[in-house]
Amino acid sequence: MSLSQLARNIKESVTLKLNETAALLREKGEPVIHLGGGEPKSKAPIDAVINCTALLHTGEIRYAPPDGIPALKKAIIRYTEERYKKIVTADNVIASGGAKQAIMVLLHAILDPKDEVIFPAPYWVSYPEMVKLAGGCPVVVTPEDGSFHPTLREIADTVGSYTKAIIINSPNNPSGAMFSKDFIAEIVEFCEKKSLYLIMDDIYNRLVFEGKSAPVCYDYADAPLEQSKLVVINGVSKMYAMTGFRIGWAIANKELVEAMTTVQSQQTSGPAAPSQWAAVGALNGVQSSVENLRMTLENNRNVMIDRLRAIDGVQVTKPDGTFYCFPDFSAYMKDSQKLANFLLEKVRVVTVPGKEFGFEGHLRLSYCGTIRDITEGIERIQWALDPTSANELYLGDRKLVRDWL
Ligand code: PMP
Repeated sequence: MSLSQLARNIKESVTLKLNETAALLREKGEPVIHLGGGEPKSKAPIDAVINCTALLHTGEIRYAPPDGIPALKKAIIRYTEERYKKIVTADNVIASGGAKQAIMVLLHAILDPKDEVIFPAPYWVSYPEMVKLAGGCPVVVTPEDGSFHPTLREIADTVGSYTKAIIINSPNNPSGAMFSKDFIAEIVEFCEKKSLYLIMDDIYNRLVFEGKSAPVCYDYADAPLEQSKLVVINGVSKMYAMTGFRIGWAIANKELVEAMTTVQSQQTSGPAAPSQWAAVGALNGVQSSVENLRMTLENNRNVMIDRLRAIDGVQVTKPDGTFYCFPDFSAYMKDSQKLANFLLEKVRVVTVPGKEFGFEGHLRLSYCGTIRDITEGIERIQWALDPTSANELYLGDRKLVRDWL
């Protein structure tokens, strides 16, 4: 079959593929523990469900404006004022089919062929492929000190004449690290000075632990929004556990929002109306579900970190937020793909190889599941790797005998 160069050049989403693998194995009755997932298991807020079903009950589900219904834009404007202390207008807002589409139409709106987009490793698996889809070149900056926190110097050293944009995702998928106020201030100032687009992927910025809060990029921006190349990305997927609704948004200057809207209008005509009404419900409704989720995740994180620290040789940095941690397993196996395959095959635990995030030797483990999944999942990993643990392990009523160490 003749497929385009572009299609042949783009990798499928590893994380979505792993969901499929886990579901297939479960269907076959395999006792799979999925520590590779990227979505909270709580229910969508009731206000979201009510709003969405109210529209469905009318039976009149029509095309909506390509940049989002006015009620959703209003809710996003209010959210931006409340959470970011930033006044924006409807012209500065575009709602999309998830934060993913918001980033995608943004890249389509700003990139010319060969333009480079810089982002630090470890990075969200989709950034390189999305940049390539939009015709650009992904450029990865790996922190030299082996930490998850880039420095401005490392990023600045990578900027060249083709650099168009920098993507910063904090709190970060996969590391859970939240970048410092100083770094956010520096990068905002640097991008203003160099006239680079700065894309702040804030999708996890409500899911932060120990009373910390994510630095707000606007606090450090000098340029007025209409002259600014700062773009903030957010969405309902993570904070409201509404991944399936597919609603995200971008806040940017009016001219850029117009260009993104044109792209989106030809791509998908904008996000589905029932989902937009659900997002209005979530944003305007009772907010307790966000704090409940945040507290559950903090507790889950603590349990997972404690268990991981009990495994000899595993290095783990405590995440500041998100629902991921990114331990270093290189003492056991340097090739993270091999290690993830090994854990799936031997003990039926799904993890995501660090290689996919540009960081070998690590695995991304999610703590958005149940405490039982976390404790049993880590127990199975420990058993599979640690030769000093008991020789046998039960998965349900299936007895496993370790014959590989
Ligand atoms: N950015 C990051 C860093 C993410 O982890 C994800 C989801 N995995 C997204 C964006 C996309 O979120 P959405 O479901 O809103 O498309």
